[in-house]
Amino acid sequence: MSELRPRPTGPDALIDALETALGAAALLRDPAEMAPYLADQRGWFTGRAPVVVSPASTAEVSTVLRLASEAGVTVVPQGGNTGLVGGSIPDESGGSIVLSLRRMNRVREVDPVDFTITVEAGCVLAEVQTAAREAGLLFPLSLAAEGSCRIGGNLATNAGGTAVLRYGNTRDLVLGLEVVLADGRIWEGLRRLRKDNTGYKLAQLFVGSEGTLGVITAAVLRLFPMPREVRTALLALRDPRDAGVVLEALRSATGDAVTSFEYMNRASVELALEQVAGNVDPFDRPHDHYLLVELSSARQGAGLLEALESVLAPILEDGGVVDAVLAQSGPQAEALWRIRETIPEAQRLAGAGLKHDVSVPLSRLPELLERGAPAMLAEVPGALVVAFGHFGDGNVHFNLNQPPGMGRAAFMARREAVEHAIYELVAELEGSFGAEHGIGRVKRAYLTRYRPAVEVEAMRRLKRALDPAGILNPGVML
Ligand code: ZN
Repeated sequence: MSELRPRPTGPDALIDALETALGAAALLRDPAEMAPYLADQRGWFTGRAPVVVSPASTAEVSTVLRLASEAGVTVVPQGGNTGLVGGSIPDESGGSIVLSLRRMNRVREVDPVDFTITVEAGCVLAEVQTAAREAGLLFPLSLAAEGSCRIGGNLATNAGGTAVLRYGNTRDLVLGLEVVLADGRIWEGLRRLRKDNTGYKLAQLFVGSEGTLGVITAAVLRLFPMPREVRTALLALRDPRDAGVVLEALRSATGDAVTSFEYMNRASVELALEQVAGNVDPFDRPHDHYLLVELSSARQGAGLLEALESVLAPILEDGGVVDAVLAQSGPQAEALWRIRETIPEAQRLAGAGLKHDVSVPLSRLPELLERGAPAMLAEVPGALVVAFGHFGDGNVHFNLNQPPGMGRAAFMARREAVEHAIYELVAELEGSFGAEHGIGRVKRAYLTRYRPAVEVEAMRRLKRALDPAGILNPGVML
């Protein structure tokens, strides 16, 4: 008589079962091969895991989650691993497996009549953009990591980027999703309907859930007409209070063609010029504040340059905008964008940084910039305030770099004090402590501090409803 044994649990039994079900080629166990999946690209977070499993289909993702549930092993879903809050890295316990979506990288369909693209979670964002472009259409999500981040991660974190003002965040680009639930069941929600008013919009629950509610395996995304005319300009401002006026004037003069409206303070531009080879200051003298503006229209000959000039002429005269450079060619526009896009890299090269991804109502952004700098500097005198980001969205990356003469450890030890200073001000201005990078592991405490208890409790109940055993991305967000 065979003795009655409980089903084997724990990581070892799970690895055996995964190997049998998916084949050894889907599993990484060698520490050197696993290393890139266990640390983030900035080197801030390093975790441990017994295995990295890379399923090649939705059915295989389902198998992984079913087996993990049965074995009682927690799972950390991972896309391109470019996140900034540690949300795709396992903790140091070594008890979680990493589920990489990198092999699920097919563009399933581009439909030019429906204006949709159906992609698997492991597609690199730039490949989604390219597939749309080859069909003569635009997928507008655009951000610095687009060459390596994967769309599943963009969806799981509701990524923002530089075209949110015009096209919205990632969640605004989603029509339908395919999701594998914690127990392995597949939710087939790949609908491509613009209108579908039939109950809770489940897809939106998973967008921005940071892998805590289910694993997104595919998505139907919205496409747009390809811009035929694009104009780029860099404006110099004396006072950020004038930026709102410029934005309003540009939106009304161009028929709402403002795609990007990005802010940079002098320190951030200076860092990009000093630290990154090839960047050139387009102005002959320094200015305190800059706006990088992009206008675009799907109509050829939309007259955007004329509109830009007509808006700028009076503002240049009355001194709101003190100088302006209008790009005369594609390469000139790219050179302007490069300054903006290399700021994070320049900041990294310049030493340790404390990063705050905050937003306030657009009307209060100048006040945030004005009061936020001294509030942070009171905690670390002499530090460099590096402020840049998406002014048009009310979202600024309001960062601090270590001052000369202060060691990295001493500077980083001021982190909580600086965060307290800036987040309290943001709260006073009715803003958010996490505008686009998400919560991950690093901002969990702030969720309970700055969100109403009722809101957090509702999130916890949703988590329990969809992942009752708590196997998905433990320690992230909630
Ligand atoms: Zn950003």
